[in-house]
Amino acid sequence: IVSPPRKRQNPFPKPIDTEAIENIVRPFILSDDDYRKLMDSMLENFNKGLGKETNASARVKMFQTYVKSVPDGTESGDFLALDLGGTNFRVLLISLDGKEVKMESKIYLIPQHIMLGSGVQLFDHIAECIFKFMKDHDLMGKTLPLGFTFSFPCRQIGLDRAVLTNWTKGFKCEGVEGNDIVKLLHEAIERRGDIQVNCLAVINDTVGALMSCAHSDNSCAIGLILGTGTNACYIERLENVELWDGDWDEPQQVIINTEWGAYGDDGALDFVKTEYDRKVDKHSINPGKQVYEKMISGMYMGEIVRLVLVKLCKHGLIFGGRGSEELSTMGRFYTKYVSEIESDVNDHFKNTKQVFEDLMIPNHTEEDCRIVQHVCCLISTRAAYLASAGIACLLNKMNRPDVAVAVDGSLYRFHPHFHDLMVEKITQLLNPGIKFRLMLSHDGSGKGAALVAAVANRVQQQKKQ
Ligand code: BGC
Ligand code: MG
Repeated sequence: IVSPPRKRQNPFPKPIDTEAIENIVRPFILSDDDYRKLMDSMLENFNKGLGKETNASARVKMFQTYVKSVPDGTESGDFLALDLGGTNFRVLLISLDGKEVKMESKIYLIPQHIMLGSGVQLFDHIAECIFKFMKDHDLMGKTLPLGFTFSFPCRQIGLDRAVLTNWTKGFKCEGVEGNDIVKLLHEAIERRGDIQVNCLAVINDTVGALMSCAHSDNSCAIGLILGTGTNACYIERLENVELWDGDWDEPQQVIINTEWGAYGDDGALDFVKTEYDRKVDKHSINPGKQVYEKMISGMYMGEIVRLVLVKLCKHGLIFGGRGSEELSTMGRFYTKYVSEIESDVNDHFKNTKQVFEDLMIPNHTEEDCRIVQHVCCLISTRAAYLASAGIACLLNKMNRPDVAVAVDGSLYRFHPHFHDLMVEKITQLLNPGIKFRLMLSHDGSGKGAALVAAVANRVQQQKKQ
């Protein structure tokens, strides 16, 4: 047997064409002027959402939440909480006793066919998970007050009435948009007939984050999520909430769920969008929607990186011009890769090489590692800075001397530099005299829902007496 002649390695590999690479990635680098311009138009969007005459046509809806006060640490009792909105669905049992919080929880998967199925199927599935949870935790026969963290845009008509305006983040269940999700939940529970729940409050995950931090720090006035999706809420004075139809008792403030992910849906971000952002949008299940979110959050970041790498590869600038089927597959470059690649601190590129193996890239060099790391860094930095512009805009608008920002979400938690990048950029963009801190919120979606349900429960009990 004659073995085929081995291809000789080229002794003079082509030098890397730094300029060609920089030309491709340059659109991700924005100037401080760009970020300031963005803050101005964001502020306009916020005010439009808050205005009585302008809300109907506003893209950023600034939903009032009916949550007026943050917890004071006297909340107590046992509560159920549901958390739907990211990658998982969770049921939680939470015992509050003053500042002490005990929590048990279980994660249930929402299969893709349910995420894209009918609303009845979705809520039947949720009800079944609650049933299983109650059975496993010896809760059958009890009716516990429940708080529901539902992390999608909802127009609230009260604390326990929330109409979904539109799905985001890969969900698309028929027959839920335009409906009150508390009603859909209670109907599904009734269809089963074997358990009872009393859903007292629906909150957004941003509100959960804010509530859970405010429980221990009363300077906390903004909740921020950087995960599968992105969004922020903050405490607004009632006099600025022109559509306010609740009570004017003290404190004269309410948490506003900005739903800032929809910023840019009117074209406000076109001046910074890249061809990769346009592609991601075009292939999403909600084209034209959630423009700001798509430039920032975890559901999309990996895909933006992938598109850039495909382009670099096509031009022969990485991997010797040879990619792989994996690299060419939409959605196959996970956002967690970005965090892993950027966590490589020395020249061994352990994580980066592992990612290349996962993607079945046939040939790669140290130089490729450096280039790919550079691409990830530019794209995650843009995301962190864009989110910073949003936070700086809120902080300037609120104009309080000292604000803690409660942050949660997988992107913020797992990315090695997101926190530092944000602190740096917010500091640059902030009006003088304002101090802020970014604090990690622990389990806000569970604890926050329980805290809000606890306050609602107290009010309900008082009314009965
Ligand atoms: C939703 C928000 C949510 C955010 C973070 C967005 O897609 O519209 O309601 O807070 O994701 O989970
Ligand atoms: Mg979540």
